[in-house]
Amino acid sequence: MADKRIGLDNLSPSPGSRGKRKRVGRGHGSGHGKTSGRGHKGQKSRSGASIPAWFEGGQMPLYRRVPKRGFKPINRREYQVVNVGLIASLEGRRGMPSSKPPYPSTSGYQGRPTVVNNVETLANLPGIIRNGPEWFRETGTEDCPGTKIFSISGKVALSGLVEVPMGTSFDTIINKIIGGVRRGRKLKALHVGGPSGCMVPLELMDIPVTYESLKEKGLLMGSGGLLVMDDRTCVVNTVSYFMEYMHRQSCGKCIPCREGTRRMAEILASITRKPAEEDQTALERFKGLMQLETLAEVMKDTSLCGLGQNAPNPLSSTLKYFREEYEEHLFDRHCPSNSCTELRSWFIDVDLCTGCSICAKRCPAEAIIGTARHPYFIVQDKCIGCGICYEVCKFSAVYYK
Ligand code: SF4
Ligand code: SF4
Ligand code: SF4
Repeated sequence: MADKRIGLDNLSPSPGSRGKRKRVGRGHGSGHGKTSGRGHKGQKSRSGASIPAWFEGGQMPLYRRVPKRGFKPINRREYQVVNVGLIASLEGRRGMPSSKPPYPSTSGYQGRPTVVNNVETLANLPGIIRNGPEWFRETGTEDCPGTKIFSISGKVALSGLVEVPMGTSFDTIINKIIGGVRRGRKLKALHVGGPSGCMVPLELMDIPVTYESLKEKGLLMGSGGLLVMDDRTCVVNTVSYFMEYMHRQSCGKCIPCREGTRRMAEILASITRKPAEEDQTALERFKGLMQLETLAEVMKDTSLCGLGQNAPNPLSSTLKYFREEYEEHLFDRHCPSNSCTELRSWFIDVDLCTGCSICAKRCPAEAIIGTARHPYFIVQDKCIGCGICYEVCKFSAVYYK
């Protein structure tokens, strides 16, 4: 068996020194886990394999793969993306990123050299050690070998974990493997990579999914989360939800992330409901949308860690591919998928209304008027679109447009 195993030098080749055998770990698209050891001049292991210098306590260099140009050492700023906050949490300290050096590869968990990789990367290692790197490269594409696990959820016929070879298209994953969206609905978009991921429009469903191909389109693989959205899902509302989530996740250490996510969440929430003030014109709200684009750029450039740098991703990708939905929310105060409840216009069907008055008693805006045992009426100017009347009416007399 020993001759079939690969040595430590094969697991950690020097970038550029062995042609295609450059790659060891696979991160999630932002430089994570793309680690590689330098040197074959170290000591020999008991099996005779060379031990890289870093394995003996030296500093392990870190590289990221550049499409078509091999590997490039990552700089200090990129390295801060690596999960040093996780190490702080493991040591019982508050889980906040910190400026480096010292880098975790020289002084990480409890002062010892530490490499942070995601579980998916580590799970690939036993197979590579057992079968060799060529076996690993048989699957996937030449530039991006191996497989990718997607966690699929949302408006799909089947949800769960799917492992596919790199290069498989989203169309194959959604329509052939998991059976498409729920019956009677139409696929609208995919959200890839979790809350800080990107929205994929239908026209990109056919691209082969690799880290590089997604990056070329301005998208990210991220953590491999795949949220499927159908024609009843609102893009703006979904981005607003993600932004609120990112704001809650921000550790608050740096201002661009802490205040930027808060301001973005506020602006997005204001788009998904009726204007609070009568004099807030569509043009003024459009200015808010313009601010979002500037804010996204500032956050990407100035946030300390990956959370703040990637938080604007859902917004940036949807402004690029679904801009008309933002404009419809802003100018027409209308949600095309009718899922922003506060933008709905509510009405009472006089033929179905029995005049029970329950809705009028429950309406928080006192927008429903009428006389008992006669059809009631909704005053549109007062209605705040909460939908309570729709929920409490037992006669299905309330409807919306
Ligand atoms: S970018 Fe956000 S999560 Fe990261 S250090 Fe700054 S405030 Fe904390
Ligand atoms: S709850 Fe329904 S039936 Fe009763 S008054 Fe309101 S709309 Fe009419
Ligand atoms: S949607 Fe809400 S605010 Fe509007 S009429 Fe119904 S209960 Fe009142």
